[in-house]
Order: sequence, then structure tokens, then C-alpha cells
Amino acid sequence: MKEQLLNDPVFGMAAGQFDRVADFLNLDERVRERCKWPKRIITVSLPVTMDDGRTEVFFGHRVQHHLSRGPVKGGLRFHPKVNVGEVAALAMWMNWKCALMGLPYGGGKGGIACNPREMSMAEQERLTRRFAQEISPFIGPDIDVMAPDVGTSSQHMAWILDTYSTREGRFVPEIVTGKPVVLQGSEGRTQATGHGVAFLVACALEKLNISVAGATAIVQGFGNVGSYAVETMDAYGMKVCGVSDITGAVWNDKGLNVAELKSHLAKTGGVAGFAGAEKIDPDEMLLQKCDVLVPAALERVITEKNASGLRCKILAEAANGPTTQPADAIIEERGDIFLIPDILCNAGGVTVSYFEWVQNLQRFSWTKSEVLAKLETKINDAFENLLHFCAEHKCSHRLGALATGVDTVAKVKKNRGLFP
Ligand code: GLU
Repeated sequence: MKEQLLNDPVFGMAAGQFDRVADFLNLDERVRERCKWPKRIITVSLPVTMDDGRTEVFFGHRVQHHLSRGPVKGGLRFHPKVNVGEVAALAMWMNWKCALMGLPYGGGKGGIACNPREMSMAEQERLTRRFAQEISPFIGPDIDVMAPDVGTSSQHMAWILDTYSTREGRFVPEIVTGKPVVLQGSEGRTQATGHGVAFLVACALEKLNISVAGATAIVQGFGNVGSYAVETMDAYGMKVCGVSDITGAVWNDKGLNVAELKSHLAKTGGVAGFAGAEKIDPDEMLLQKCDVLVPAALERVITEKNASGLRCKILAEAANGPTTQPADAIIEERGDIFLIPDILCNAGGVTVSYFEWVQNLQRFSWTKSEVLAKLETKINDAFENLLHFCAEHKCSHRLGALATGVDTVAKVKKNRGLFP
């Protein structure tokens, strides 16, 4: 299993990052091994009746990286390219993310290899419920709490909640986060990841003495994270010049009209063909001059092929794992790009998930402004701590963020000792 995981390029990248951090921290060999490998890798087959009467079998994975600091937390992804190595890498990153943010969770991630764009909502419901049923012996509010990720939404969480609650014979809202507010989801959760990204972008601009109003941004990905990051940056008075999604990329030097772009998306399902912009090649878009570049889609889009050509001042990693290790080395060597590393940049989502879980456990709810204010405080603290750590240890933001997360987990492992 170790070899199989290491053969996957995304897991290889996460493991490579971990090794670099473990060297930096001078981690004891025994603790290092315990920190690196996932605790549980669960794969289930999911037979689903499709709308045309066929039975199709999908594979679903859930990886629980560590349960040492609390239940595991992380999203469930629907995407055709999902595989167990990628899910294990994403679970590992969730682990460092929760530790960096001081949340009492280990990292987890789930994924089902399917194409939700080609499935009806009824098919997605049957698939989600079957997954919830198959995985139910391994999850629980104190064991593993799922949330939306790429290709899933609050509706998918509602189906998991319903399947789990039906099985338990009682309403268990704390089994998932990112669910609809009417099912005791949290106010502010839907926009939390994008809001956190935009908030950190504003913090970084201030550090670089660039005025937030009028600063230019390019965003790759216009799903839940990208669209709310764009909306919030627009509300801050920034100019979002380029946006791309699976349908293509659009560009306007003067800044896109975000409200019109969103209504175009609602009508057509993508950004391509938006009248208020020119068409641009999505790969070329990443290389345009801007203050802030925001990769907000999938892993490994900033590579050794484009890293030296980037013309941004800030790289805000809204996606998980968007920058490969060779690209990281190029960016560190260049020294002219302020990196907001993924495990901090997109931590707004899991932070508000934590708030949602706490509200559920207390049978209490906070207002949207309370939630967003608490989120901003937590993110600002983590950002300042990171800059302080990096200045003190003379290291990159990537290394500093990962080191803070890994060190916390390593200390917990050391203190708990090895059983038996
Ligand atoms: N899927 C999100 C992430 O990658 C959120 C996870 C959560 O809220 O548990 O951080």
C-alpha cells in the first residue's frame, strides 16, 4: 500500500512536502513515520441504479489521516479523476491545515470517481446515500465529519445527514458540515472558503503596501471557492480581470463585471461566451500580469513549466495542492512572489465547518456577521503567526505553514506515546 500510494503523483507530492518539513523540524524517525502515513484507507464499491435502468458500480474512498487530535474532518469530492492516492494526499493536507488553524481535528478526505456534470440529481442522490450507508460504520460526529468539496454541495451533505440520521433513528446534524442552514448548517459556511481567501489577499496586499482598492486579480476556477473569492474581492474594490472554469477563460483589462458574470454562469453553466469580456487561453491567462493570482480549482496547475513565467505579486492558493514541488522551488528561488500557502489560504472553509459543528453540538446558532467576524479573527491570527514563524526561522511561507501543522501533530503523537 505504501508503494501504491507513493506511485500516485499527488500523494508523492504531499509525501515529498512532508519529508522536507520533517527534515526541517529534525523529526525523530519513529514519530516521522507515524505522522506520514494515513491511519485508515477505506474503499467501498457503490452500485447505483441509473435513470435508464442500468446498474453502474462506482468506487468511493475515504481516507482518515489521523485521529490523534480529534475526529477527522474534510470534504467529499465528486470528480472523474478521483483515486485513492489523491484522496490520501488531500487527507494529509487537511491534517496539517486543521493543526495549523488550531482546530481539534485530524485530516480526512473522501472522493467518488464519477462525473457529476453528466449525472442527474436523482442519480447523485442515490450515489451519495449509498456511499453514506457503506461508510457509516467508519464515520460519526466524534470520528469523521464530512463537508462539501469539488463537485459536491450542501445538498449532498443533506442526503448524508438524512441517511445517517435515519440509520440512527434520530436527527444528527453534527454528522456533516456545510449542510443547508434549514438543517442547522451554519450561516456564512457557503461563502467561508472564498471569503477567507479574499480576506487573506487583502492582508497580503497590505503587507506589500499595495492598495486593496484597484488591485488586480486573476482567478482560475469559478466553483464555490473561486466564485465567492471573486465576489468578495470585487466588494473590496479590487479589479478581477481574468476568470476561468472548465468551459474556458474570459478577460477584461478594466475588470470583469462580476454580477453580470455570475448571471451569465447561472444561465449557461460556465464563464465561456460572457459578453463583457474577451476570450483568452486558460493557460495563457495564468501568465498575465496582475497583483494576485488565485488558483481555485484542482491540484498541480502551477508547475515547473509555468512557474518562472508567472507575473503576479501574490499567489493565493485557494485550491488544495495547486503548486508542485519543482514549481515551489522556482518560486522560492525567484523570491518576488508572496505565497499564501493552500493550508492557510483555503482554511476558511474548514474553520467555519468547525464553527458549524460546535454550534450543532451546543444546539445553538450564531449570526452570519458573528461567524464571519470569528473567521476573520482566526485567519488573521494564523496569518500573523505564520509571518512571525517564517521571519524567525528564515523559511518560506510553504515550509512555515506545513512545519507549524506537522510540529503540532508530532507533539501530540509524542505525548500520547506508542500503543501497545
Ligand atoms: N473541502 C474543504 C477543504 O478542503 C472543507 C473541508 C471541511 O469543511 O471539512 O478544506
